[in-house]
Amino acid sequence: MAIRLKAILLLLSLLLPLHGNAWGFFAHQRINRLAVFALPPEMVGFYKKHIRYITENAVNPDKRRYAVEGEAARHYIDLDVYGDSALYKMPRFWPQAVAQYSEDTLQAYGIVPWHISLMKYQLTQAFKERNMERILRLSTELGHYVADACVPLHTTQNYNGQLTGQHGIHGFWESRLPELFSDNYDFFVGQADYIEQPQLKAWDIIATSHLALDSVLYFEKALAQEFDEEKKYGFELRNNVTIRVYSRAYSKAYSDKLNGQVERQMRLAVRSIASFWYTAWVDAGQPSLGTLANTLTPEELHQLEMEKKDYEKGTHKPRQEGDS
Ligand SMILES: [Zn+2]
Repeated sequence: MAIRLKAILLLLSLLLPLHGNAWGFFAHQRINRLAVFALPPEMVGFYKKHIRYITENAVNPDKRRYAVEGEAARHYIDLDVYGDSALYKMPRFWPQAVAQYSEDTLQAYGIVPWHISLMKYQLTQAFKERNMERILRLSTELGHYVADACVPLHTTQNYNGQLTGQHGIHGFWESRLPELFSDNYDFFVGQADYIEQPQLKAWDIIATSHLALDSVLYFEKALAQEFDEEKKYGFELRNNVTIRVYSRAYSKAYSDKLNGQVERQMRLAVRSIASFWYTAWVDAGQPSLGTLANTLTPEELHQLEMEKKDYEKGTHKPRQEGDS
């Protein structure tokens, strides 16, 4: 009987895809939401009023990755494609980077640090125009890209461990671990800072993430040797569907080895997002947010509803990073 059970489990583990998705919906939503609380008094009221929008739409950029041309490249940068010391040598500003590598190459390997800077510029413009819909949309989406830049696996072409026999590690690190353990993380990050050089700040974030990449891969590899295959994975029922996941024991062991790394990167995301929002607002001349209309227009609500429906229809095709 035990043998038969084992055989069934083994078969299931081969058949079922490994569960996970980018920074998990869960983590993106939590990060955007928490960033609101790091804002200064002049901003926090407005953002709190719209916290539901900022939370629920935190994953919109991922939802359109497969539908909108050019979207995918905004979420990552495969730094290692450019050589070992790319982190130090890569031109920080877009025109110089294009001159050195060509726009096609940059688009092919990801543009997240430059896209963050562009979004910050656009958000500043939206504040200047006092355009509430744009302020909310750009704040929410800027939050997404900043959070992506905080994920070490978003800075490498080995983004899902596919080059090192660690397939599935993407969703493991950025979805499974936060889902299991982030309730115990300390998310008090203090108040947003003014960012003198948004473009360089985006690169600082990338640097922090990229320097954490070795541990992300190394510790999982080490752990895989300590765990039997059947102890490494488990099964959970979600929405009446059985899914294969990294087991709790394996996740706990990985989290322990990482020694607070996921928490540190999530904190970095929360604080950086609030700081980008704050900086855009300051650069726009600190417009009063109290008098902005506080509801979305019917068209905007309709638009959001349509986006949601589109997504639920399931026409999107997942990039492998969250799947096994
Ligand atoms: Zn993303």
